[in-house]
Amino acid sequence: MQDTIAAIATGGVIAAIGIVRVSGDGAIEAADAVFRAAGGVRLIGAESRRMYYGELIGPDGGLLDMCLCFISRGPDSYTGEDTAEFHCHGSPVVLSEVLHALFNRGVRHALPGEFTKRAFLNGRMDLTQAEAVIDLIEAETPRAAQNAAVQLRGAIGKRFDSVYGALLDVMAHFHAVIDYPDEDIDDFEMQNHLTALRGAEEELTGMLLTCARGRVLRDGVPTAIIGRPNTGKSSLLNALLGYQRAIVTDIPGTTRDTIEEKIAIGGTLLRIIDTAGIRETNDMIEILGVKRTQEALAGAGLAIIVFDGSEPLKSEDRAALDMIPTNVPKLAVINKSDLPPVLDISEINELGLSHCRVSALTGEGLDALEAEIKKLLPEPSAAPDWGLITNMRQADTIKRSRDDIIGSIDAMMNGMTPDAVLVHVEQALTTIGEITGKTMREDVIDRIFERFCVGK
Ligand code: GDP
Repeated sequence: MQDTIAAIATGGVIAAIGIVRVSGDGAIEAADAVFRAAGGVRLIGAESRRMYYGELIGPDGGLLDMCLCFISRGPDSYTGEDTAEFHCHGSPVVLSEVLHALFNRGVRHALPGEFTKRAFLNGRMDLTQAEAVIDLIEAETPRAAQNAAVQLRGAIGKRFDSVYGALLDVMAHFHAVIDYPDEDIDDFEMQNHLTALRGAEEELTGMLLTCARGRVLRDGVPTAIIGRPNTGKSSLLNALLGYQRAIVTDIPGTTRDTIEEKIAIGGTLLRIIDTAGIRETNDMIEILGVKRTQEALAGAGLAIIVFDGSEPLKSEDRAALDMIPTNVPKLAVINKSDLPPVLDISEINELGLSHCRVSALTGEGLDALEAEIKKLLPEPSAAPDWGLITNMRQADTIKRSRDDIIGSIDAMMNGMTPDAVLVHVEQALTTIGEITGKTMREDVIDRIFERFCVGK
């Protein structure tokens, strides 16, 4: 018996339409109690997967809204339970009144992600699909959304299921070997198991190889904006974002820590890190800021070095440039193009940097800057049809299960006893099961659904 939950699914903003969702054993009864369908139809006996037009009635019998109610009976619904969805006028006041009318009928407010958690617990989706739901909602570029949609279709889960199945076969065999120790182990069969384990290992390795691209897709290319103080780094970040985010002052060293923002350029997400200015300093806080800059650069996929075009090149400019690791693509931005040019461009050319002139103040040259950035970013290669692994939890679990598979292969190769092989295979199975949710771990499941908003 599942208690009945309800929530506003469309957020508390004014919109054309707002949806209140109800799910659970008493969902249709509760919906029927607050809704008068046109033509006297009762929701209790209503057909599944149909919409009904009618009146929503408040606890005092007053009219709340004229709306549509979609009925979907379990197990063929999103949650796997009986559900009703009221498609109302998108007034936060109306939606909250509808919720209260339902609470009056014994329905309780849903917890964040509770509808999707029920869908998972009722076998309507595996954990990778549940995680794809939140990734799809939170996607920041069309490509990230597309990747999440592929995962939502269950493609990744199917891959894991096939690895799981292969390991299960190997496990069954080794159990038999242990149970009947007098039976000889057939060499041919041993070879088959070894091949199956190697295949599973390769499959997981292939998935792990997509993680770096997957992370960039989801979180963006880490991009460090560096340069000596006062060249206009924070102003450039603000100009790119189109709004004031970083503190801009004319006192050198204002940005003492790093600031992160995301922008999409040509369909690629950049995670821009505005760093503290690089200069010789004894100030402890600034020294820490410079240390952070070094850390940001170490993990950067792109470095934008900002020069002040209204001043000559200084030793601090060169010092900033020297901090960029050689493997990080870099772009020189010559800022303050609205001021008379003083910086000698040939010096920038000599440093082997591609460059563009901008004015963070007026916005001049930002288009060209975006075009230059696009050129430096790797062309997004076509994702495999099962998508990229974008999720750190999945990546970590894949790594652990692969290690156990490697352990089982080693045990077989070294002629260890069948139970030594079995220990690794069983552990790999348990870990793989955590990815899709076959092996239930309450803490993992709770953490996943905590990320959701209420109503999803
Ligand atoms: P940061 O220390 O490199 O982050 O530099 P800020 O963004 O704080 O800017 C330092 C000073 O330069 C501020 O007074 C800004 O208003 C000014 N500034 C930044 N960009 C431009 C620009 O394109 N043109 C002009 N004229 N001033 C700018």
